[in-house]
Amino acid sequence: MPAVRPKLHADGTAGAVHGVLGGRVRGIFQVSAGRRRLGVIRGDRVAVIGAGPAGISAVIQLSRSGIRPTVFEEGEVGGLLRNANLVENYSGFPGGISGMELCGLFRRQFEAFSPELIRERVVRVDYDGGVFAINTPSAEYFADVVVVASGTISKKPDVAIPQGLTDRVFTEIVPIMGASGKTIVIVGAGDAAFDYALNLSRKNRVIILNRGERLSCLGVLFDRAMGNSRIEYRTNASLTAINPAKSGKIALEISANGDILTEFADYLVFAIGRVPRTDFLAKKISQNTEQLMREGVLHFIGDVHGGRFRQTGIAVGEGILTAMKIAERRTGDE
Ligand SMILES: Cc1cc2nc3c(=O)[nH]c(=O)nc-3n(C[C@H](O)[C@H](O)[C@H](O)COP(=O)(O)OP(=O)(O)OC[C@H]3O[C@@H](n4cnc5c(N)ncnc54)[C@H](O)[C@@H]3O)c2cc1C
Repeated sequence: MPAVRPKLHADGTAGAVHGVLGGRVRGIFQVSAGRRRLGVIRGDRVAVIGAGPAGISAVIQLSRSGIRPTVFEEGEVGGLLRNANLVENYSGFPGGISGMELCGLFRRQFEAFSPELIRERVVRVDYDGGVFAINTPSAEYFADVVVVASGTISKKPDVAIPQGLTDRVFTEIVPIMGASGKTIVIVGAGDAAFDYALNLSRKNRVIILNRGERLSCLGVLFDRAMGNSRIEYRTNASLTAINPAKSGKIALEISANGDILTEFADYLVFAIGRVPRTDFLAKKISQNTEQLMREGVLHFIGDVHGGRFRQTGIAVGEGILTAMKIAERRTGDE
């Protein structure tokens, strides 16, 4: 487990430092408070940032190799996959399985290995003197190896969201999966937009807005959506403004084929693409990524570096592969 140093309060009065790093000798870390030596920790402290499919599989494989990593997860174990309507391309589930169910199984397997789970957001990772410093809002941890499995984050919508409506505008649908009898507008034309629509249409009316005509989703998802009477698909329809409506709903101003019309919705979902989530990496790391990767101390797995190829099976495979490389490197060090 990484060494932990609780954060000092701004005035330095509380949360005394009880473990600062000393020198590194052949993969061994000395932990000391001031001059007092507190103990010795082996040089195989592995931190995994993110407990989606990639992080989970890395943790399971590391645990099997005798390494107990520390995992940082700000949300729920399972990650983005919890949103998926029907996962049909993950082996072992003929007929498919819902993302939520699959994540439940992942979570059970993950928990069976009792990993050290820190349920906090990693706000900064820095690298100094051969050691990573991982900061959460409440503490600082140290690790020899960092596995970045932080997935992606939604692109920012280019329409202003009024303060009072932020609790009804989403980029993931887990918070509204239980909604029933609502009108839900989804902005986007990719796999996620259509998958979200199929999921929510079980109990709601769904409108998909595509600002153009180009589709970037799987044909099978499109065909299913088009065969679903609860899903309406509009092309050349751009969302231009979001306003509160007197009825309590959201008034959506939509520019469609030269006309401006208003649609009233209960919820609005943006599925407009995602970008890698690496905002917590210090500049020093971003500038030396390749070198650190070559040294085998920094790894990226799953969607965070997947580009257009972002799938559960890939994330899981990369998690296992990386864990095996870390274990092999450790054996080599001995
Ligand atoms: C609607 C939808 C349907 C999908 N359907 C399928 C499908 O049918 N088949 C398929 O194979 N794939 C599907 N996917 C893709 C699949 O969900 C992803 O490929 C998979 O979740 C990637 O796993 P990951 O672990 O790399 O990232 P993620 O699942 O995104 O997990 C990253 C985790 O890191 C955490 N995290 C991020 N930053 C921090 C931080 N700073 N501190 C702490 N924690 C952090 C996040 O909270 C998250 O839990 C679908 C995705 C969506 C959105």
